[in-house]
Amino acid sequence: MKRHFIQTDFSAGLFKSFNLLATTLILLTTNSIVISQQLMGTGPSAFSPEADDPTRTIRIEPLNIIDNIYSVSAVSHYPSYLITTPEGHIIIDTSLEEFVPDIASNIQKLGFKLEDVKYLLTLHAHIDHVGGHAMMKELTGATTMAMADDAHVMESGGETDFRDRGRWAPVKVDRIITDLEKVRLGDTVLTAHLTAGHSKGCTTFSMVAEDNGKKYNVAFFCGMRMNPDEALVGNPDYPNMPEDFAYAFAKLKALPVDIFLAGHGYWFNFETKIEMAKQGASPNPFIDPEGYRWIVDGFERAYIERLRIERGLID
Ligand SMILES: [Zn+2]
Repeated sequence: MKRHFIQTDFSAGLFKSFNLLATTLILLTTNSIVISQQLMGTGPSAFSPEADDPTRTIRIEPLNIIDNIYSVSAVSHYPSYLITTPEGHIIIDTSLEEFVPDIASNIQKLGFKLEDVKYLLTLHAHIDHVGGHAMMKELTGATTMAMADDAHVMESGGETDFRDRGRWAPVKVDRIITDLEKVRLGDTVLTAHLTAGHSKGCTTFSMVAEDNGKKYNVAFFCGMRMNPDEALVGNPDYPNMPEDFAYAFAKLKALPVDIFLAGHGYWFNFETKIEMAKQGASPNPFIDPEGYRWIVDGFERAYIERLRIERGLID
């Protein structure tokens, strides 16, 4: 039995106009990313690009983000990351199955081999992050890893998720990872931070990257969006959801982040940063600690507001 929380989605249309305004401002100011985000006002939970938004369908070219980290995303709304090492490579998120051929060809365009991909990771076990895992595992032979509470969801193709939505090709999870475990390949060390709430095994990965002799803390942020059709408080399918979110926010706020990457492009102005990177912007446009704090704070405000509503403190 599922309890449903009704949320009025007043803001989908607003996103486009804010986006347009923000894009215009980006052309006018160098300090524009922070400004454009502030313009979006209420916070990241309040909007999402509409179903027909071009960022969901228009294919993008692969890109070196920093050091050994690349975007191999098919489209900017659903980022996929490739981390390369001399001992083999790591993919984080495969998005939807239909995008896997583009992601695979992006890896090859960068000059890397599919059979050198050793690990297949995910930010969380929803169709738009793991829908392509089975096909990518087939293409690469990579070892799949996930937190236990996401692993069974991936292996059931979404069937065992607490949310009753989204089904995809099931994929075997070869290795269970735990909170704060280090995933090592070559000289790259990724730390897995369990930041549950949006999914029970939602995982934010961190690592250190180097650029021009400087070291940067990188975060691949799993996402703290309130599940729109699910009760936050007293959800029989996920009783600990409020506590998990609270713990995740505390951890995320304590995480040092310079390079901010995430599970959806609009959470970190991916489109704009791609354009800036292509134009050779310096410093690296993906250095965005303010953007990271903005998104975490925004999601936390949405969480607190939802708690207040569901506990009957406001209507
Ligand atoms: Zn999700």
